[in-house]
Amino acid sequence: MTQRPAPILELQGVSKRFVKPLDAVDRISNALGAGLREEVVYAVDDVSLAIQPGEVLGLVGESGCGKSTLGRMAVGLHSLSAGRRLWKGVDIAPGANQRTQRDLLAIQMIFQDPYASINPRMRVRDIVGEAPVAHGLVAAREHDDYVEQLLSQVGLDASAMRRFPHQFSGGQRARIGIARALAVKPEFLVCDEAVAALDVSIQAQVLNLFIELRNALNLTYLFISHDLGVVRHLSDRVVIMYLGRVVECAPADTVFSRPNHPYTQALLQSEPKLEVSKRVFVPVKGEIPSPLQPPGGCHFHPRCPKAMAHCATRRPALRELAPGHLAACHLNDT
Ligand code: SF4
Repeated sequence: MTQRPAPILELQGVSKRFVKPLDAVDRISNALGAGLREEVVYAVDDVSLAIQPGEVLGLVGESGCGKSTLGRMAVGLHSLSAGRRLWKGVDIAPGANQRTQRDLLAIQMIFQDPYASINPRMRVRDIVGEAPVAHGLVAAREHDDYVEQLLSQVGLDASAMRRFPHQFSGGQRARIGIARALAVKPEFLVCDEAVAALDVSIQAQVLNLFIELRNALNLTYLFISHDLGVVRHLSDRVVIMYLGRVVECAPADTVFSRPNHPYTQALLQSEPKLEVSKRVFVPVKGEIPSPLQPPGGCHFHPRCPKAMAHCATRRPALRELAPGHLAACHLNDT
């Protein structure tokens, strides 16, 4: 039996809560007896993921389900409210261990809107080349050659070095964002809706670039998207999130051929298809849970056609249905 390699990145029971503190008016109201409380948003709730080296893990869910927050937690842009983040088996919480500079740079993020995530006043030469020189990965005298090589790796001409971001198309800006992430020689990329802002033909080109880079540089991806077609094209394994929780996790083929969780099934049914058919909408029976509500039973309960009485109060646990296929639904409790 072949043994699986140790995960390159592991999130163990991570949660993220955002607290909106009371403002001055609320505090004055409270002094008069209003009894107002801070609002707490439960963006990510007790999520565990283990990503193997070289794997592409697709993270899918509707807007607001917490997938971008989870991606930012994986990179370290958001602190954890609970749980642990391990890089190659070592806890990398601030203060837990002395991280090497290599570890800090090994996880990079590619953002949805490349224009908003790059400085419009900087030339591409500096956008891509500043970090590797600042971190001592490349000598200052090799800067231009290094940037030129990165630009060619992402399919841009060397003449792009002297231009500003507004002089490029959306697809070219996406390539600049990828070159900037690659400049510090990462091992793991979190791609947050990295192709969502592009039109379909450019999306395909950039997705193919991601595949080529993965093979050439042995990269590992956490690929976040609301687009099932994109995830199907790229991922080895898919995780489905709903209102801050993982509801299903399985190899990509299994998710698309044998989805178990009613939410995954609904998501696949809502995927646009080139055929004329009648859409079936499931009526919502109760109030849809909000991320403002504390975690309780199954969040999908009001929209689930298979819901049972206890689904509203008892949280379903993630169960392994087959090797590598997990789902959180009371229908699997036998
Ligand atoms: Fe539906 Fe209950 Fe399963 Fe939630 S736990 S998906 S409500 S059957």
